[in-house]
Amino acid sequence: MAKYENLIPRFLKYVKINTRSNPDSTTIPSDPRLTEFANGLVADLKAIGLKNVHINPQSSYVFATLPANTDKTVQKLGFISHFDTADFNSEHITPKFVENYDGQSVIKLDDAGKYTLDPAVFPNLKNYKGHTLITTDGSTLLGADDKSGVAEIMAAAEYLLAHPEIKHGEIEIGLGPDEEIGTGADHFDVKDFGADIAYTVDGGPLGQLEYETFNAADAQVEITGTNVHPAEAKGVMVNASQVAMDFHAALPDHDRPENTEGREGFFHLYSMTGTVDSAHLSYIIRDHDRQVFEDRKKLFQGVADQLNKQYGSERVQVTIKDQYYNMREVIEKDMTVVDLAKEALEDLDIKPLIFPVRGGTDGSKISFMGLPTPNLFAGGENMHGRFEYVSEQTMEKATDVIIKIAELTESKA
Ligand SMILES: [Zn+2]
Repeated sequence: MAKYENLIPRFLKYVKINTRSNPDSTTIPSDPRLTEFANGLVADLKAIGLKNVHINPQSSYVFATLPANTDKTVQKLGFISHFDTADFNSEHITPKFVENYDGQSVIKLDDAGKYTLDPAVFPNLKNYKGHTLITTDGSTLLGADDKSGVAEIMAAAEYLLAHPEIKHGEIEIGLGPDEEIGTGADHFDVKDFGADIAYTVDGGPLGQLEYETFNAADAQVEITGTNVHPAEAKGVMVNASQVAMDFHAALPDHDRPENTEGREGFFHLYSMTGTVDSAHLSYIIRDHDRQVFEDRKKLFQGVADQLNKQYGSERVQVTIKDQYYNMREVIEKDMTVVDLAKEALEDLDIKPLIFPVRGGTDGSKISFMGLPTPNLFAGGENMHGRFEYVSEQTMEKATDVIIKIAELTESKA
């Protein structure tokens, strides 16, 4: 029998429920189906035997507590994941299984074989020789991001309740909506959650441990032109679309997502519309280094200032909004939370894979609310689309890691 009896069954039950979040919504959560799913989680968490199970009213996170079983004073650990899924078809998700994968075959997702998982395209498949893989049928995403995290956290809690010989402090569980639309953690209630240090279990392959993310801002550029008949345009027309192109051309050529990697930041133009009369450019600005990030925003504003000076009027208006910051700024003040996870991985013979994330996590926001929250692997690969898959064995290892962190925290107290 599997070590975590309910891990995979619970995962399968959850992925079959459509929990796609809605980027166009302004409600919390973004869709009523997320409330319905949260209610189901409340019932399941209570059934496991967890305490203080409730939905936090300001964030719609489901919170639960696993009480301590030790007399020592131990730091309260938190484990967090999200149950909404990304912007891709998530109706009628039908998980498929590949038992004992050989690490080299092409896996057909749909019966006709239009969509496949091919190691030539997805080389990580080679890491899964001997594993049981759970895939999609090619028509939907899978939702391992992040229902694998949800199922792992719940399996770890269930295991600890069934094994009182493993001593641990109080453990807080937080399962939230709307991570995929970037708003889930905005209203996270650190006080109600009650943890001293926490982890999101929302990373990818085995061993991933992330405590460095981008600093992030959204930047909108509104350009106003002067539209006159082209025949009489000389010296009068200001073509907003032309000004938009000049604006973009004034940004550093190299600093685009397609030219950068590792710790290199960028300006990413993700949408543009324009006529002679008006034009609009939408960017995201990213950098791991806070100072360089601030400099990038200044440079961006400076391009607008320069163009306005050139035209002698306010043609270009820039609105920059910070989205989240590099959690490293918070975490490096006390590396305990990272060191614990590293030690847990090493104790379990899992090689820690520590790289700066070229993105953000819910922990980027939560860390700045005063709760240091790096990100642990949950197992998913090729997230956010039809090629998503996860290994059962990796999900078991992720569950092992959660339990090991709890154990280590108690033993060091
Ligand atoms: Zn995720």
